[in-house]
Parts: sequence; C-alpha cells; structure tokens
Amino acid sequence: VLKYSPFVVSFHKHYYPWVQLSGHAGNFQAGDDGRILKRFCQCEQRSLEQLMRDPLRPFVPAYYGMVHRDGQAFNQMEDLLADFEGPSIMDCKMGSRTYLEEELVKARERPKPRKDMYEKMMAVDPGAPTPEEHAQGAVTKPRYMQWRETLSSTSTLGFRIEGIKKADGTCNTNFKKTQALEQVTNVLEDFVEGDLGILGRYVERLEDLRKALENSPFFKTHEVVGSSLLFVHDHTGLAKVWMIDFGKTVALPDHQTLSHRLPWAEGNREDGYLWGLDNLIHLLRGLAQS
Ligand code: ATP
Ligand code: MG
Ligand code: MG
Repeated sequence: VLKYSPFVVSFHKHYYPWVQLSGHAGNFQAGDDGRILKRFCQCEQRSLEQLMRDPLRPFVPAYYGMVHRDGQAFNQMEDLLADFEGPSIMDCKMGSRTYLEEELVKARERPKPRKDMYEKMMAVDPGAPTPEEHAQGAVTKPRYMQWRETLSSTSTLGFRIEGIKKADGTCNTNFKKTQALEQVTNVLEDFVEGDLGILGRYVERLEDLRKALENSPFFKTHEVVGSSLLFVHDHTGLAKVWMIDFGKTVALPDHQTLSHRLPWAEGNREDGYLWGLDNLIHLLRGLAQS
C-alpha cells in the first residue's frame, strides 16, 4: 500500500515527484505552481480557513480555497515540499487517540459483529480476541478501534510515526506496531541520520510550535484527532515542521476548551496532542544531546 509518488509537480519550473506518506492513493493531485489538491472535506476546509487567521498560521500549509477538477471538489493548499531539494520526509500522527468521540458513539449505536475486523485482529495478534470474540469469529468496531490504538506508540507516547521517506529513496510506512520508546527513538535517529544541525532545527521549530499552540484560540476550542506533523529536511540543512490533515479536527461545544494534555476519559474529548508533542520534543532533545 505504498503510493509515495502519485504524480509529478512543478515549482518555479522545477519538476519533481511529489511524495504522499499516508491516506488513499487517489486523494491528492497536482495543483497550481507550488500547490497541491486534496480531496475536499468540509471539516478540513473549516479548519484551514480559521487557521489562516490564527497564531498557528506559520505552522500550517497556506490555504487557497476549494477548487473543482474533473467534476470533483478539492481543497487547494501550499505544497510543503516545494522549497526542498530531494527532501527526507516524515509523517507523525499526533495525539493519544486517532478516532473521534463521535465515531466511537456511532460505532456503538449499532454494535454489529465484524468478521473483517476480527480477521485483521487475528492477523496481528491471535491472542488479542477474547474467548467470546473467538467463538463469534467477530469483534465490534469500537472494540477494534480501541484495540488498534494499543499497538502503536499512540497510547503510550501520544504520537506515532505513520511513514518516512528518506532522501536516498528508502520508504517505510509499516510502523503500526512500533511502540517501545527505544524503537521509536531509533527510527527518529535514523530519519535525521544523526545530523545534529537538523535535529537542533527540528527541536527549535517544535518548541515554537508548542508556544503557538498554547496561544492559539483555534487549538483551545477544537478536538484535534488524526492530525499529523510533517517533518521535512534536505541536504542543504533546511529543516521544518508543519501541522497537516484536519479531516478530524472538530469544534467543541460553546465555551468548552481542552488542555490537550490531560488523559482521555470518554466524554472529556481530550486528544493528548500536547502531551504527545511534549514527549516528541523530549525525545528529540535527548537525541540532540547524546
Ligand atoms: P490519512 O487520514 O490516512 O492520514 P489523508 O487522506 O487525510 O490521510 P493527509 O494525511 O492530509 O491525507 O496527507 C497524506 C500525505 O500527503 C502526508 O502524509 C504527506 O506525505 C502528504 N501531504 C499532505 N499534505 C501535504 C502538503 N500540504 N504538502 C506536502 N505534502 C503533503
Ligand atoms: Mg494524515
Ligand atoms: Mg486524514
């Protein structure tokens, strides 16, 4: 399921293969010069529009509105790869859970036994289903969703690595069971190839991002789930990070706010985003000092 070069894009007349580290292969297209198109999602549009007027703006791809192409709607946004030469790229999915509370509620309303999800579970860990689930040969969707989170570092660190493509062309999107702190650390170290300059720039950028998040009216009032940090660096030493993917970023009811650090208990809507960012910064700082 690797679709890291779905098309070629141009920027100031340079042409290069675009890289997509997650999501469905057909979801993206080349946009105007230096821009890309992502399959339209209203929730994402709302978020991007608001983020253009928020302290988080420097940490989000510039948004250029909805456009139509071959009868389909897209959100047009800045191509974050455009300024780099043969970049290394990493997608880190942030937060301590990657489904919305409303998804869990919906999945629970009609808890129908799912054979396909039982089989996916068995393929990963035959010991995971309960005796009843084995007998049924099926699990419910909420059960599957919650089990899946316990495999990766989502539940233990508040982020997980979704995919990496390095400048040398190697690509890995199989981190679903990368959980242990030591494993995650090794992956991050390999991504930056021990380059202390790049590590330092990433840490600095993440600390600036954390400050902006703590001052962001948007962030305070939204449940941010399934959103990623996109890390990009290249041989010139340029290293930056942006927030991407707001398909599951939803406004809280009036006057409700989140800490983004407190543990999740169903109903409190906490997403663990800042807890994960704290952990990520701590880990990268450790690498920078070792
Ligand atoms: P999923 O929900 O499964 O993560 P998605 O369809 O919502 O997928 P995104 O996560 O937004 O898609 O993006 C998928 C990939 O595309 C990212 O991992 C990244 O590699 C690339 N990408 C997304 N937005 C940009 C951007 N603005 N500039 C450069 N690359 C991007
Ligand atoms: Mg994503
Ligand atoms: Mg998404």
